[in-house]
Amino acid sequence: MENKTKKPARLGLGNGCPYYKKCGGCHLQNMTYKEQLKYKQIKCIKLLGKFCRVKEVIGMEEPTHYRCKVQAAFSKDKTGIISGVYQSSTHKIVPIDSCLIEDSKADEIIVTIRKLLKSFKLKPFDENAMTGFLRHVLIRKGYYTGQIMVVLVTGSSVFPSKRSFINALLQRHPEITTIVQNVNNKFTSLVLGEQNITLYGEGYIEDTIFNKVFRISPRSFYQVNPVMTTVLYGKALEYMELSGTETVIDAYCGTGTIGMLASDTAGKVIGVELNADAVRDAKFNAKQNGIENIEFYTADAGDFMVDMAKAGERADVVIMDPPRAGSDERFMSSVVTLSPKRVVYVSCNPETLARDLRYFIKNGYNVKKIQPVDMFPHTSHIESVVLLTRK
Ligand code: SAH
Repeated sequence: MENKTKKPARLGLGNGCPYYKKCGGCHLQNMTYKEQLKYKQIKCIKLLGKFCRVKEVIGMEEPTHYRCKVQAAFSKDKTGIISGVYQSSTHKIVPIDSCLIEDSKADEIIVTIRKLLKSFKLKPFDENAMTGFLRHVLIRKGYYTGQIMVVLVTGSSVFPSKRSFINALLQRHPEITTIVQNVNNKFTSLVLGEQNITLYGEGYIEDTIFNKVFRISPRSFYQVNPVMTTVLYGKALEYMELSGTETVIDAYCGTGTIGMLASDTAGKVIGVELNADAVRDAKFNAKQNGIENIEFYTADAGDFMVDMAKAGERADVVIMDPPRAGSDERFMSSVVTLSPKRVVYVSCNPETLARDLRYFIKNGYNVKKIQPVDMFPHTSHIESVVLLTRK
């Protein structure tokens, strides 16, 4: 007889992820990937559908192991040394050996490091006593280059048996291209400290997006899902509709990735970003790629735009990619004054995006296209690219 109480099959990660309940990082794991995309589509339509038709969300073909930046916290419990992620909204570590959204090689390296700690009699860091050795491991992988950076975050610069530890790690994982010790001796929930000591290789990795090479240092901001980054940036470039002569402002530019990709088909690109480290990387990356029609400024995007508007400067296209909190009226009112033909808004939060689109609509712009892109499968996050044109 058929079992009538049997629940419908759940094909999301929840089915295969042993950490699902404890971790809490992937909010939508109980849904199949198809259901997740539908959920995100409906969310975008609810928030943005009043402005313009929302295109079908672009999902991943293989929505697993997409994170090329993996972080693990280290600690000790009654079973010995543990490594894993902080439980959602807490500071409790959920021990994890292999995560379905993280790069598998990165996870393997983290397990190796945990085993090596034991054989080298090195202790994980104790945040309360501020003693011990290893706090976190950060791994970044260049998806297209295959380069791998291992960052060992330690509580002090002292590294007992450093050479033998590094050799043992490289022997087990010859695919590692660089190893950095990052010293974080502060009482803080931030993962990385200020000081980086390169122990092996160059101290950074490189990856490519389309035809450009980007340097990724331990502290640089770089999108974590390389496959979908090309989709997202591809849409942003398409919506900019550049013909080779335009002046483009890349606001909230991070390490300048979008602006540099746009530089091939623009007259001139101006990047503005608050974080000085990111701007340093952006300038370096521009030079490395031989891009001459781009300039970067360290400033608040709002202040910068106000100054540009006051100076009577012009811009044909503004591309903006603010953090989750969205933009502000200072910035947007100056965009309106500069009066570019097109504004391309890349957003990681449809709520603040809706608020900001309302401002642009009230002040002379039409929303022409809205394209959601699933950069973070299994989580509730959804990215969107929006094209606005001057009325
Ligand atoms: N466009 C980049 C980075 C987007 S992340 C990329 O795709 O890689 C958002 C960026 O906005 C971060 O680099 C952050 O440092 C920057 N930021 C946050 N507030 C800012 C502000 N008020 N002015 C300028 N940049 C800001």
